[in-house]
Amino acid sequence: MKLILLGAPGAGKGTQAEILSRMQSVPTISTGNILRAAMRNGTPVGLQAKAYVESGKLVPDDVIIGIVKERLAEDDCANGYILDGMPRTIPQAEALEENGIDIDCALSIEISDETIIERMAGRRTCSKCSQTFHVVSNPPKQEGVCDFCGGELTIRKDDAPETVKARLATYHEETEPLKDFYAKRAKLKTVDNQPTIEETTAAIVKALGL
Ligand code: AMP
Repeated sequence: MKLILLGAPGAGKGTQAEILSRMQSVPTISTGNILRAAMRNGTPVGLQAKAYVESGKLVPDDVIIGIVKERLAEDDCANGYILDGMPRTIPQAEALEENGIDIDCALSIEISDETIIERMAGRRTCSKCSQTFHVVSNPPKQEGVCDFCGGELTIRKDDAPETVKARLATYHEETEPLKDFYAKRAKLKTVDNQPTIEETTAAIVKALGL
């Protein structure tokens, strides 16, 4: 399985990527998580990315392409991978093709901006392992504590309502054209966001014929 997950920020790409990853035994490569880890660790990439990420803007394509090429060259990607949050621009998609990085399918999770804005307000992210929870739809067992690593759950700076609006505008302008890009290559599939995580997974499983 070589899959790209497309969809607005907050569409549930990360959550679904983790579920599909376990189901198919392939790694998820989340550029957002890689960037947040780099920012926490103060690496050169992290320092370069910080201002973009925190204001809801896209990190320059060359930085992202470098990160992803390096990650996909690792052994665990040999049998497939799920790309969560990359490509986000046409040049990133073209760079994948130019580097011979092939994908089977780009799956877009469709969701309205209104639902996203409501949803982001309840999102909590582990400060240690980046696992996400939602105060209503996917609460942790203990409030404020990650079920997986015990880390502290925090509100991502870029989940603040004004930043979410900026991220949605960026999505419509720069990322949504990727649907056309992959439709032209007969690789696009779409599913509508469902009321629960499980129902969205079921819709994806059906669309992918898993
Ligand atoms: P995410 O966790 O996927 O919502 O990503 C969080 C932030 O990281 C985005 O708002 C961007 O600032 C940055 N980012 C993640 N992936 C990419 C990408 N493929 N291209 C550019 N910026 C990215």
